[in-house]
Amino acid sequence: MSPQKSVTKTKPRQVKYLIIGNSAAGVAAVESIRQYDKTGSLAVVSDEPWHTYSRPLISYLLEGKTTQEKMRYRGDSFYERYAVDTYLGVRAEKLDTKKRIVRLSDGVVLKYEKLLLATGSVPFVPPISGCPAPNTGKGVYTFIKLADALALQETVTASTQVVVIGGGLTGVKATEGLLHLTKNISLVELAPRILPNALDTAASDIVKRRLESAGVTINCDASVSEVLTGADGNVSSVRLSDGRTIPCDVLVISIGVRPNVELTKETDVAVERGILIDETCQTSVPDVFAAGDCVVSHDLTDDSKRILAILPNAYQQGKTAGAVMAGQDRTDKGARPINATSFIGLPLITAGKTSLTAEQAAEQGITIIIDSDRVDSKMELRVASCELREESKRPTGADFGNRASARTGSPATGVVDSEGENYRKLVIQNDRIIGFILLGAEYTKRAGILTDLLNRQVPLSSVGAGVLQTPELLLFDKAERLQRMEGVRSI
Ligand SMILES: Cc1cc2nc3c(=O)[nH]c(=O)nc-3n(C[C@H](O)[C@H](O)[C@H](O)COP(=O)(O)OP(=O)(O)OC[C@H]3O[C@@H](n4cnc5c(N)ncnc54)[C@H](O)[C@@H]3O)c2cc1C
Repeated sequence: MSPQKSVTKTKPRQVKYLIIGNSAAGVAAVESIRQYDKTGSLAVVSDEPWHTYSRPLISYLLEGKTTQEKMRYRGDSFYERYAVDTYLGVRAEKLDTKKRIVRLSDGVVLKYEKLLLATGSVPFVPPISGCPAPNTGKGVYTFIKLADALALQETVTASTQVVVIGGGLTGVKATEGLLHLTKNISLVELAPRILPNALDTAASDIVKRRLESAGVTINCDASVSEVLTGADGNVSSVRLSDGRTIPCDVLVISIGVRPNVELTKETDVAVERGILIDETCQTSVPDVFAAGDCVVSHDLTDDSKRILAILPNAYQQGKTAGAVMAGQDRTDKGARPINATSFIGLPLITAGKTSLTAEQAAEQGITIIIDSDRVDSKMELRVASCELREESKRPTGADFGNRASARTGSPATGVVDSEGENYRKLVIQNDRIIGFILLGAEYTKRAGILTDLLNRQVPLSSVGAGVLQTPELLLFDKAERLQRMEGVRSI
């Protein structure tokens, strides 16, 4: 995948639809606009020089599981097919919403009728004593762009010692990708567990064990207080706040991301951490729209407004924005955080609300059901009201085999330390699924049905509780389902 050439245009140039950002939200908007307006002029600007690519695949590139060509988010002819003028490898530097113009880093000025800000995220880099600026050739990297993965690919060899700061999704993904290049990796995470936002302790432990058995050293409850450099200015080690030092030639900072709201500075576009949008994805300034990681979204799980930096949400908002920009009557009511990924071959799907304390669960009338491969002497229940239940056989006898299950008879929560790698947690409130963790092949293969129950907020009593244990029962009509569920206890 070679860098794309920008189209040279006379300045200033009038564009009906202008999109800043060439990723999930921007691409969705292009497709949506063209559904309703085949001829209006359309331009996409991106400071990345590449054809559109799928950002989550950058770790798979490091791993050697994909190539730059295969990472393309859309086919080769995408821009021609949708009649898009591309300004790639140039930065939109200045937005003037009163004059409706955007000034690019190469001097081109674009005058728009409708503008979409699909500028995504920027990596969060906290100030760390002694730390050279990332991506300046001193051994410090971020991990959010294709260029980051390419730079790491070029630098890291089997003898390189790497420290990754951040045990969230992108930090763990970077670690997994880097494992293909070197086995000398230490992960440093401030929280007591890795993937703290997505997983509870039990599920996190399963992923941790996988990474450790692949050779990664994991330091939780730890933070980097200082970065030490050699005479050449390159990073040589990190000092943890407990005094330990870890030698390294490469430091990857992957602590999290923040909405990229840079372009809204000195404009009337309202921002509160992210860009504020209404249900039509319009900002506080008429004809200026925003979508994706750069906006504050509506989380349907708990009716909150927050940053939902996940690809399906970016795509959905881009689609809505594009339709409205092209004159359609469309709204986006919000999204539920749902993510499907894998860690060293272990599939994981998380959705909705998954992390909450026993007290929160009790207060909110939430029931949590946990199923795991093995529940034995290692089981630890943090809440006395959790009920443990040994199930010799699953209802249909199919697939599930002999398993054990921790179940809350009353609103409560529990933690199971399982030796196996299949783990499922269902979070239920008011007879509806509001969140789940599905880890391992056993449980992820039925994720579609649970996702549907969550998305449509189907009352579980209307489908029968046995569906939770055997989701594929939903493939049958109610009479057949009841027959197959014979003997299943209701929750
Ligand atoms: C390693 C990694 C793994 C991930 N895994 C998952 C996953 O498993 N599931 C999931 O749902 N999501 C995942 N994500 C998140 C997902 O990639 C993002 O949610 C998604 O890409 C957001 O799309 P977007 O269009 O809003 O913005 P982005 O993909 O961030 O794209 C924004 C684009 O705009 C460009 N831009 C910004 N400002 C300007 C400017 N002023 N001028 C020109 N161009 C500009 C940026 O350079 C960028 O190319 C992952 C992300 C990373 C980094």
